[in-house]
Amino acid sequence: MSLAPATPHAPLLELVGVSKSYGTFHALRDVALTLEAGELVCLVGPSGCGKSTLLRIIAGLTPVTAGTVHYRGAPFTGVNPHTAIVFQTFALFPWLTVIENVDVALKARGLDPATRQAHATQLVRLVGLAGFEAAYPRELSGGMRQKVGFARALAVEPELLCLDEPFSALDVLSAEALRGELLELWLNRSMPTQAILMVTHNIEEAVELADRIVIMGNDPGRIVSELRIDLRHPRNRKDTAFQALVDRVYATLTGRALSEADRMGTAAGAAGTIRRLPVIRLEAMGGLTETVLADNGRSDLPRLAKALGHEPRALLPLVEASEWLGFARAEQGDLVLLELGKTYAGAGIQVRKELIAGRILRLPLIRWIYEKLQNDDNQRIDRSFFVEALRSEFGGETDDQIDTVIDWGRYAELFGYDKDSDELYLES
Ligand code: ADP
Ligand code: MG
Repeated sequence: MSLAPATPHAPLLELVGVSKSYGTFHALRDVALTLEAGELVCLVGPSGCGKSTLLRIIAGLTPVTAGTVHYRGAPFTGVNPHTAIVFQTFALFPWLTVIENVDVALKARGLDPATRQAHATQLVRLVGLAGFEAAYPRELSGGMRQKVGFARALAVEPELLCLDEPFSALDVLSAEALRGELLELWLNRSMPTQAILMVTHNIEEAVELADRIVIMGNDPGRIVSELRIDLRHPRNRKDTAFQALVDRVYATLTGRALSEADRMGTAAGAAGTIRRLPVIRLEAMGGLTETVLADNGRSDLPRLAKALGHEPRALLPLVEASEWLGFARAEQGDLVLLELGKTYAGAGIQVRKELIAGRILRLPLIRWIYEKLQNDDNQRIDRSFFVEALRSEFGGETDDQIDTVIDWGRYAELFGYDKDSDELYLES
């Protein structure tokens, strides 16, 4: 690490024209980002857009290909000792107790044993683990382990705390508790940290916590937009203003997520039609992939329609869906099965469901509905809520779209639909 003398009044962190390539692949291109002391900034964007790479660059764990990172006004290279990162799953030392795991970071700062003991105890209490000082990681729940991770990151007393999807591996309740605790520590200034930069895929979480949301897109990874959140704390998720901000972030991401859809193999369709889900029942995907597989992985489309008992036109949404899912690609009048499609064709029902769940959660519309349900107190929401929210997007096709979402979500066992109450609910 080389740090030149600090410049007063400079931003805490400033990235100028930062790019990162792996060979010919551009993970990040021309990123400009400034963090001021006192700010909590959330970073959102589709998977693979370079969020983790950006955090590692900021912490100095990954060198840039081009551009500069300034810390307190001075360019730096190498590891930045003023930052600490908390990852999605925090690696604790299994042979050390809670307090010893925190102590590791204090020892690294060269503090004397008495100071360390007092400080570690205080940190463990701060994150809500009083009484568990002598417990070993294996005796703790996932949420508690993540708290130890937080305590250890706080022990570093970083000026800049970087969090990479810190709550996404936790169940909903633990995530909510830990999020609340972090926010309280931050707002009460009970930690010396000057700024927090947090990656999250949960848009509501970003709107709840952030002073500013930075939205990234991919191909190449870059910043596409920024949004300041001026709502006062505590923020209420059911507030109209809150929801309006969630929708704005969601709209920006949906636009950006087109390239994600492209990467999933969408060949057909102009930009305007890509957001709509192809209206098909997922059960039909089995027959489609099996038939093409039996054709040595490549079928003539009109013949395929006939084999499946469809009019050629009626086959098109199914073909489109197979492309969205990354199962197949239409090519010169043929449908060509991709590796994932072959796996699907040969798999049993459980593996098929898992494959679909993994794929469709990347679709912004499904992800949005899934997160809405996750964030609802009862994890049940009236169908009419979604109809209203999506009407401006889909017009007369809204009901078809929602039926399709429900069909796909049920197939993947992500969420269910209660016909009697007309509610979507989260599958536990
Ligand atoms: P995110 O955190 O937004 O999901 P990442 O920062 O992990 O994205 O990765 C961004 C892109 O860079 C991905 O396409 C990933 O495959 C690629 N990538 C990340 N690290 C490496 C590496 N060490 N070598 C090659 N490609 C990498
Ligand atoms: Mg990541």
